[in-house]
Amino acid sequence: MSTTTARAPRGRQFFANPGPTNIPDSILHAVAHVSIDFNDPAFLTVYDGCVAGLKRVLRTEQEVFLYTGSGHAAWEAALVNLFSPGDALLVIETGHFSESWGKMAKDLGLEVGTVAADWRRGVDFAALRAALAADTGHAIKAVCAVHNETATGMELPLTEVRAALDATGHPALLLADTISSLGSLDFRMDEWGVDVAVGGSQKGLMLPTGMSFTGVSARAMAAHAASRLPKSYFSWTNMLARRHRSFIGTVPTSLFYGLRESLRLLEEEGLDNVFARHARLAEAVRRCVRHWSGNDGPQLFCLSPDRFSNSVTAVLMPEGHDAEAVRRIALQSFNVSLGGGLGRLGGKVFRIGHLGDLNEPMILGTLASVEIALRLAGVPHSPGGVDAAIAWLAEAARAA
Ligand SMILES: *Cc1c(COP(=O)(O)O)cnc(C)c1O
Repeated sequence: MSTTTARAPRGRQFFANPGPTNIPDSILHAVAHVSIDFNDPAFLTVYDGCVAGLKRVLRTEQEVFLYTGSGHAAWEAALVNLFSPGDALLVIETGHFSESWGKMAKDLGLEVGTVAADWRRGVDFAALRAALAADTGHAIKAVCAVHNETATGMELPLTEVRAALDATGHPALLLADTISSLGSLDFRMDEWGVDVAVGGSQKGLMLPTGMSFTGVSARAMAAHAASRLPKSYFSWTNMLARRHRSFIGTVPTSLFYGLRESLRLLEEEGLDNVFARHARLAEAVRRCVRHWSGNDGPQLFCLSPDRFSNSVTAVLMPEGHDAEAVRRIALQSFNVSLGGGLGRLGGKVFRIGHLGDLNEPMILGTLASVEIALRLAGVPHSPGGVDAAIAWLAEAARAA
């Protein structure tokens, strides 16, 4: 028998990717639903309940449009429904996902300006205010903000973005990508004055990939009425003419049975408790990584503690060590799936996703397996990071 073959996986895979995320058994069972006519009254009841529940999670009382497609579909829907060729957008740089959304906007014929930022420290809001103040003619139609940059493990405080718009009296729409924050981090569309909130199914909502949505404010609906970019499948006007007020074509009914269960789980736990659980588990991961960073070991990529993401942590490898080697060992030897570095961070970071259906033993098992993988890969680190996570989780449990 070869000694180089991967160990046969036994037990459950620990899926520590920041999206897709673990799907709870009850959601898996709910998704396994027979086909049903999407105009069947029984389904319409489920559908309407899901839309109402999604609005509660988005904390909006305005419009929601849904799409059969991953988060990218909702990104595109937001852009083509709001703007006209040549319109100017201002993208706040956060990392790979802000770059990708900006590139999509360029592909669609929009002018994209960027508020540049250091990926490890995050944007300086004075620079955002200055860019808005300099735009005295109000050419900028929208500010695009990625609430949680999944590539770097950093949160962008949306209230600060709103404050910059208000302080400069700038009328630009505020578009927020909440794909890896919704259902994991506090988000309040209406209270925070977000005009379009973009979300997807396979992250905090713990569903299979394939459905995405946008919350849309009344101001954004007014901008939609004037927009001239070509659109048909994603057109909100076309969607409003349908019973479902979303989806051109067949409605992905199975995902709605899953969404109904997802919303039930989130509301049974209580959104505030869901956010607190994410904060607790994220802090365990960070304490572990901080411990590893001794002996010139891997360190937290994010250098701004007030912006640490509670849904994903990016871990920066020491110079000369390949993050992919750690990921490979974790997967092949321990059946732990970690996220890789995206774009220019490829090979430099690995990412531990800690959002969705997750508890203490899952986090501890993942961290322990990563620590073994660091040993096996010959990566310098201070051993015992898992003990730091244990100490924190005990402290948090005692205080609860
Ligand atoms: C995952 C993700 C996307 C892309 O969504 P897909 O469902 O993969 O198309 C966009 N933005 C953020 C912040 C993400 O985490």
